Amino acid sequence: MRFDVLTLFPGMFEAVLGNSIIGRAREKGIIALNFINIRDFSLDKHKKVDDTPYSGGGGMLMTPQPIYDAYMSVVKDLDYKPYTVYMSPQGRVFDQETAKELVSKKEHIIILCGHYEGVDQRVIDEIVDDEISIGDFVLTGGEIPAMAVIDAVSRMIPGVLSDCGSYQNESHFNGLLEYPQYTKPRVWNGREVPEILIGGNHAKIEEWKREQSIKNTLKKRPDLMKNIP
Ligand code: SAM
Repeated sequence: MRFDVLTLFPGMFEAVLGNSIIGRAREKGIIALNFINIRDFSLDKHKKVDDTPYSGGGGMLMTPQPIYDAYMSVVKDLDYKPYTVYMSPQGRVFDQETAKELVSKKEHIIILCGHYEGVDQRVIDEIVDDEISIGDFVLTGGEIPAMAVIDAVSRMIPGVLSDCGSYQNESHFNGLLEYPQYTKPRVWNGREVPEILIGGNHAKIEEWKREQSIKNTLKKRPDLMKNIP
């Protein structure tokens, strides 16, 4: 799977997406990430990429030309249109279902990160297929949201996690939160690992996991209980 990220701050990405599981998936060639600096495409002699909005109200808006040319640099030799997402607090709110949808249906995604007051509407109308928000709050830029989306989508690509099935047991994949988990030592600070997990009775352990998953969801996110089949 390939992601091309259009951003004014390409340097923000490597620290997060160049390490750990995603970094290794890139080294193995399972995912390709390219970070394209929108400023490199500005035709302005001072490489300006923003201007004041016609509506007034202060702040600066990203101008359409450098964004469009950065986008064209990605698509110009392709015989298809990559699915193009604008990270926006006005978009549909990202969740595990959206991540599943992207991983199963899209091979190549372009992500546009806004900054300042956002982006001139005309370039959104020209290139964007989908607007995605990571929650009902406003951040300084689309870079952190883009990293969240890339991470959540990438870890579901076969081969990215060493145990392919492990994400399917995690919170949200089947609508519920995960059960509590324990590792060594068996007793820590006087707190013991639940006895049922020691016995090796797999059927009982599965039953316990399901019960705990429901309890956890009821306690922490009762709104998710409607997802129980
Ligand atoms: N003026 C815009 C509005 O009120 O809708 C907000 C602009 S915000 C300060 C700057 C940029 O950050 C946006 O263009 C978008 O790319 C990104 N951004 C901010 N909050 C976001 C969120 N919750 N989800 C996704 N992207 C977000």
